[in-house]
This record gives sequence, C-alpha cells and structure tokens, in this order.
Amino acid sequence: MEELLRRSEKLTTVGQLAAGVAHEIRNPLTTLRGFLQLQKQSGSLNLSHVNLMLSELDRINLIVGEFLILAKPQATKFVTKDVRDIMKDVLLFLDSEAHLHNIEFRTILTQEECLISCEENQMKQVFINLLKNAIEAMPGGGPVHISIQRKSASIAISITDEGIGIPEEMISQIGDPFFTAKEKGTGLGIMVSQRIINSHQGTLELQSQVSVGTSVKLTLPALTDGA
Ligand code: ADP
Ligand code: MG
Repeated sequence: MEELLRRSEKLTTVGQLAAGVAHEIRNPLTTLRGFLQLQKQSGSLNLSHVNLMLSELDRINLIVGEFLILAKPQATKFVTKDVRDIMKDVLLFLDSEAHLHNIEFRTILTQEECLISCEENQMKQVFINLLKNAIEAMPGGGPVHISIQRKSASIAISITDEGIGIPEEMISQIGDPFFTAKEKGTGLGIMVSQRIINSHQGTLELQSQVSVGTSVKLTLPALTDGA
C-alpha cells in the first residue's frame, strides 16, 4: 500500500460539476435522438436499437441518481447514529450482490460505541459506493475487509479489498468527476463520497497497490455519550 491520496483539496466547483453533468448527459441524449430518428425513418422497431436506447436511458438515470443524493436540501437531516449499525445495514443490503460475485465481507467492528452525527442516507451511500468499488475490483471474487475502530475523538473506518489496485499514473485522477476506468462506470462514486464525508467534517484517504489491493480509510468525528 504505497500510494496515498488525500482527496480533500480536490473538490471541484459547482460550475465545473454542472458543465460535466451537462456534457455526460448530452452524449446519451444525442445517441437516443439518433436512434429514434432512425426508427422513425424506417417505420419499424429494431430491437437491438431499442436495447441500446434503454441502456442510454439507464446511464442518464444513473448519473442523475448519483447527483440527487448530493442535492437534497430539504431532506438533509442530521441524526445521531452508531456507524456500526449503518455499516451492518449496508452489508445486509449488498449481501446478495456479494454472494453473486463470490465476495466475502470480513468485518472487525469495535465493541465500543461509535456514535456520529450524520445524514444517514448519505452515509449509507458512501459505504455502498466504496464497497461496490471493492467488489468491482475483484472480478473473480475474494475477501473485502471492513474495520471500524473508535479513536479518542474520531471513528476510523476502513474498507480494504484484494483486487486489481490502481496504477500510480491513475491515482491523481481518482475522484475527478466522471473519471472512470470502467466500461460501465460513471466516475462519480468517489467524488460524491468525498463530498459527503467533507460535509460531515471527516476525511477520506485512498491507498492502493496494483495487483495487491486498495484500501479506503475514512475518519469521522465521534460524538461522546450524551452529546
Ligand atoms: P466508477 O466506479 O463508476 O468508475 P468511482 O468514482 O467509484 O467511479 O471510481 C473511479 C475509479 O477509481 C474507478 O473507475 C477505478 O478505476 C478506481 N477505483 C476506485 N475504487 C477502486 C478499488 N477499490 N480498486 C481499484 N480501483 C478503484
Ligand atoms: Mg464506483
């Protein structure tokens, strides 16, 4: 685990983000329009074109969905929660997907209370994004190690896979909006997670080594009992 990356200095402005979103959505829209035009001209329905159109629509939906999590002003409600419980919920939610890909979640959770103040759905989304990346990094399956430890003033959470890792020349781009090395990736997972963790006064760090694996370490301020 040699490469270390601190993402917090890397937040893009709203303007840059909006331009990126517009661009990413316009591409599938252009494709959709082209295929619809074709269908209109030929006067018959071509199933493979319909399938392509559906996958372009799915892509738009995915991109918009990732942004909705960030942009829900009314729904933002901070509650006191034990991070271990949030993690357990998420692991349950991802259980069937993990099974399907021969992934085994191995957890080490402290016995101590791990209370934080958080927007619960956003925190769940961070764990889902990071665990999905871990799963996707191990196409043949393998273990994902999840640890939650209580420090004096903070909670330390780590998610570590034994997957493909991140090449050194790529690491500075991870977390840039829409940067993805995957055919079907959106390149939004790390960026969205970083923003959520920042808005919770936490930190997110990535360590990776090619063919060894990747570890994402989060810290969040801990609430003491009764706080
Ligand atoms: P996406 O998963 O849609 O590509 P992310 O923002 O979640 O977008 O991740 C961006 C890129 O960072 C990925 O395409 C991948 O190259 C790299 N990455 C993130 N997490 C991992 C991981 N656990 N192992 C290997 N590469 C990773
Ligand atoms: Mg991802």
